[in-house]
Amino acid sequence: YTGGPATLRDVVLFSSGYGDREFLVYEDFRCSFAEHFRLVAGLARCLREEYGLSSGDRVAIAMRNFPEWPVVFFAIQAAGLVAVPLNAWWTDAELRYGLTDSGAKLVFADAERTALIDREIPTVEVRGGTPAPGVRAWAELVASLPERAELPDVDISPDDDATIMYTSGTTGRPKGAVATHRNHCTNLLNTVVARRVHAALANDGVFPPLGDPDAPQPGVLLTFPMFHIAGLTTMYFATLSGAKLATTYRWDREVAARLILDEGLTTAAGVPTVMRDLVEQGEAVRKLDGVNMGGAPVPPDLVHRIDALGTGVAPANGYGLTETTSAVVSNAGSYYLARADSVGRCVPGADLRVVDPATSDEVADGEIGELWFRGPNIVRGYWNNPQATAESFVDGWFRTGDLGYVEDGWVHVVDRLKDVVIRGGENVYCAEVEAALFEHPAVLDCAVIGLPHPKLGEEVAAVVNLRTPVEPAELQEHVAARLAAFKVPAHVVVRPDPLPRTPTGKVLKRQLRDHIGA
Ligand code: ATP
Repeated sequence: YTGGPATLRDVVLFSSGYGDREFLVYEDFRCSFAEHFRLVAGLARCLREEYGLSSGDRVAIAMRNFPEWPVVFFAIQAAGLVAVPLNAWWTDAELRYGLTDSGAKLVFADAERTALIDREIPTVEVRGGTPAPGVRAWAELVASLPERAELPDVDISPDDDATIMYTSGTTGRPKGAVATHRNHCTNLLNTVVARRVHAALANDGVFPPLGDPDAPQPGVLLTFPMFHIAGLTTMYFATLSGAKLATTYRWDREVAARLILDEGLTTAAGVPTVMRDLVEQGEAVRKLDGVNMGGAPVPPDLVHRIDALGTGVAPANGYGLTETTSAVVSNAGSYYLARADSVGRCVPGADLRVVDPATSDEVADGEIGELWFRGPNIVRGYWNNPQATAESFVDGWFRTGDLGYVEDGWVHVVDRLKDVVIRGGENVYCAEVEAALFEHPAVLDCAVIGLPHPKLGEEVAAVVNLRTPVEPAELQEHVAARLAAFKVPAHVVVRPDPLPRTPTGKVLKRQLRDHIGA
């Protein structure tokens, strides 16, 4: 026994101790930790006893951020099964791919997803009306659960598979990253340590007591989707720490602001564009202790804007991938304000090498190379995909496909290898140019891409969505005052609509190129 959670089943057990505290909040739905435990235990037993599933079997979740999501997830974990969270933005063909590739034996889907998936796989429909023939209604299933239940008595080892999570697919077909309980629990403990260190820094070096029953209940507004590793992390950290977890159907900053104020939430978590919108809303964000961001580059101006609110709300950034089970480098609070251009320092137990992607040799401190990580939060490989596994997992190291550098232990992510614009032999890192553009007050959102050029190979273009009208030439001058001339976008395309982004905050650069006819 380690004294901390070794499996996600332990997280369920631990959180049951929060009893009647309010846990899940969604519109007018409310669920306490005690009720959550009752549902999880009953459902976990049902999965094994009624559905006859056994250890290692896969169960898919295809839902928006409904409050049933955590219940289903923890029931799967407590039953020793493997959860397969599917992207709720996927089309029918993509959902079919996820279900077939993972070999899921059962799926819990909301009404929209139930309409999209094949009837061949047993389906429980969450938040639907009268289900179609062959589909089971969640309400009926829940009504059949006992008033009291213990978790099923199953052996779960920390090295058993817990999840198969599909990567965002921004660089190719989504791959199913297989994470063990140890991967997730390492991630959880890293989050606990990081929070306590930052709390101590804000508290004159004094660590607040852990689990103080008299301390006010923290509350988090979760805007990351739970099918993404950042959303899953936020969700299980809230569960372990007894926090209230508020979710919404879609992002709406007025709804979010009302939730923060009415529910007394203390943290908001989301991709940088969503958190920027919350900051622009202005009122509610001032009530928070922290704003946690990740999933995509966080432009430094956003960190300074959060600081400029003047209410002590601490920005935090977690850099990571599905394959690193969330943040493998993090930055927060006063450290982050001092180093807003850095994603921070490696989490405990993670090793980082920066290598020349062509030779795999380590580069010198301060030089740009590909970031490779090793450690207990790195997943064991891709499901059903030995070739992709062999390409990305080399001698115990995971190759991220991201370029970056380290200076005095501070990690900087400069771009994704595949997104670097090579202009006449000079590398232009899009994130650097985007960060410069974001410093202009008229720029609401932007993305830098490479366009084919007959002589240079590629040239730099920027697509911007503006807060107030401004001439492209002014934006070019603004960048020229900050960066070398070869990095200044030769074209600035103003787009009246928001930029196309994945639910995980990344700009769909391929779509932008098509849009501007490249
Ligand atoms: P695929 O591998 O299918 O193309 P993906 O890599 O987009 O999908 P994710 O695991 O969701 O899938 O995204 C990880 C990537 O997101 C990282 O490689 C990095 O480029 C980017 N990223 C995540 N967090 C941050 C951050 N805090 N700062 C900068 N970039 C980030």
